[in-house]
Amino acid sequence: MKNIVNLVPPATCVYHKPPPYYHPLAGGDEEDYYSTNPTIFGRILIGEAPSRNYAYAESLDLLAFRDRTPKAEFHALVIPKRYIPNVYSLSTTAEDVDDDANLVREMRVMGLGLLQEHQPTAFAKEDYILCFHIPPFNCVNHLHLHVLAPASKMTWFHRHGKYKCGMRWCISDLDVIDCLDRGWCQCHARRYSVNTFLMKKCTLLITFNHLTHKTCSDFSSVRP
Ligand SMILES: [Zn+2]
Repeated sequence: MKNIVNLVPPATCVYHKPPPYYHPLAGGDEEDYYSTNPTIFGRILIGEAPSRNYAYAESLDLLAFRDRTPKAEFHALVIPKRYIPNVYSLSTTAEDVDDDANLVREMRVMGLGLLQEHQPTAFAKEDYILCFHIPPFNCVNHLHLHVLAPASKMTWFHRHGKYKCGMRWCISDLDVIDCLDRGWCQCHARRYSVNTFLMKKCTLLITFNHLTHKTCSDFSSVRP
């Protein structure tokens, strides 16, 4: 238990500098950079809301902090400083400096780095989960990579439910990168948004949708 307690960083409100190459686009005003972000993560980035940050886990583009309600011994979120609402907002046509697949790769590298540092045993055994929630199952509408370890010590519900990749609600970072490299399938995106509307109305439909669609989408965990 002592070890776990030591892993918990203090809660702080810190202003996190935006990536420098965006300043010209943001009219040179750093505050503006975050002003379009209406989420709690926008407030964390601008230093208005506290987070439990992991030292060293900030880069020009990314920030990592501890999940407010951890579901594993180690549960971090890696977010881009740029406001990207969710996986559907990632684009395959961005310019070089702004390439979204590379951004997700960077998020993965930061997530793995955190695991290596804070959960070396789980890291070595690949006993971890890296995943994104798919709308409408994303609790905060700012792209965030969940980094959880050790997966083997998580509750069944979280390991095989909420954070289970390949389900309608959860996709691994590698699958997102794969989708971006191949291009999102628009027809699937449309089908998902129609389902989104229905699912908000009735939880029964979530189960139905999952059973009927889980194997026929770009979100399946099957990789070559
Ligand atoms: Zn989430």
